Amino acid sequence: MILRDTIAAISTPPGRGGIGIVRLSGPDSVSVAEQILRFPRSPNGKPEWKPWRSQLAALPGPDGAPVDHVVVTYFARPRSYTAEDVVEISCHGSPVVLRWCLECACAAGARLAEPGEFTLRAFLNGRIDLPQAEAVRDLIEATTLYQASVAAQQLEGSVSRRLAPIKNQLVELVALLEAGIDFAEDDVGVASTEQILCAIEPITAELRRLLGSFAYGKLVQSGLTLAIVGRPNVGKSSLFNRLLEQDRAIVTEIPGTTRDLVSETASMKGIPVKLIDTAGIRVGQDLVESLGIERSYQAMADADMTLVVLNLSVPLEEEDRELLGRASSKRHLIVANKSDLPHAWEPDENMITVSAATGDGISELRDRIIGSFGRADTEAGFITSIRHEQLLRESLEAMEKAATAASLGIPHEMILLDLYAALRPIDAITGATTADDILNRIFSTFCIGK
Ligand code: GDP
Repeated sequence: MILRDTIAAISTPPGRGGIGIVRLSGPDSVSVAEQILRFPRSPNGKPEWKPWRSQLAALPGPDGAPVDHVVVTYFARPRSYTAEDVVEISCHGSPVVLRWCLECACAAGARLAEPGEFTLRAFLNGRIDLPQAEAVRDLIEATTLYQASVAAQQLEGSVSRRLAPIKNQLVELVALLEAGIDFAEDDVGVASTEQILCAIEPITAELRRLLGSFAYGKLVQSGLTLAIVGRPNVGKSSLFNRLLEQDRAIVTEIPGTTRDLVSETASMKGIPVKLIDTAGIRVGQDLVESLGIERSYQAMADADMTLVVLNLSVPLEEEDRELLGRASSKRHLIVANKSDLPHAWEPDENMITVSAATGDGISELRDRIIGSFGRADTEAGFITSIRHEQLLRESLEAMEKAATAASLGIPHEMILLDLYAALRPIDAITGATTADDILNRIFSTFCIGK
């Protein structure tokens, strides 16, 4: 990796906007900016490069006449995003001006940045660790404020902080066993099996806890898909709209008209929930209708969770029971709708009684939807990245092997192999020992200019 060159990119999104920023990072950032800009308002036309200060400048076009008036901000190394000299040129947000500015920067010696290269440099220069770099991407991609706040926490280093005690305990145990082997002749006490197992236990417990937290973390990261199923007229579309709090699906009194799947994403407790309103499920003969039914079953199969909607105001029918049977093998909630009307039957305690018409019970339904994926112990922390999950699982498997080996009285040299195998994935999470291919995988998912 050559870090001696200076990179440049348009850091704001494509398209027109009030402002657009060309960002430079590297040892020549200042000199590139001096070559491509004019500073007529500075004393003697000389730019003043005071760190964390902005100054006005003109961006000359091909014929020398200004094509934009810009604001230039200098971030001196090492206290910049990349830990290198960074210059940000805030132009007006015109794509032609921004492209011209970038072309000039490249003609003056900068190189076009690869996707994620600014953040990669921050990592390679030791300003942030890998989970922090990943958090930058998650923050940019957040679709709800809650997702953003989780990413912001990780950007502050929460992932590595939580892994530090696990790593310390593991390193201590390794040291204990290594000492027993190296100094066996010097009569250094060899660790007993109990001692080893006692040391392994809290490590595996914390690894299990973190792995367990991924069910919720994945939900925060990727959201969930929720299929709303039920017989025609039970109130699926009405419920769908209630949950969305906006009119999206067509509400109608004629059974079976919602033939296509309608989907829309809502934020529930900060988690993006993709709601799928399925066609009315009935054992009907209508061809289009039965196509709809197939799709409903398909939606149920693909969804992370199903809401089976029943109508409290009319007796249950065979179709309701069949649907409940279909749903029972997967994660589902049973919703007894139309509670505002006289009841034709009484819901049991595991059903959620709601009225899509009045909004009664809807907030409890929202709680139950999110709550059924496990609760976040935000204090203890949870993992949101599948990369972290896979590595922690690897680490746990190795720790379990070590525990088995210890309890079988297997020589400590062999136990150590397992302990090292448990340590490596933890180091890979934080980037302490990272192969280039892992780096490439992470940073290639970034957008250019980050
Ligand atoms: P779908 O066929 O299952 O999608 O059902 P719709 O949402 O189209 O609702 C069918 C009919 O039931 C419409 O007339 C709705 O206004 C009515 N409806 C839906 N939910 C409720 C409710 O909670 N209470 C009452 N009284 N009527 C409802």
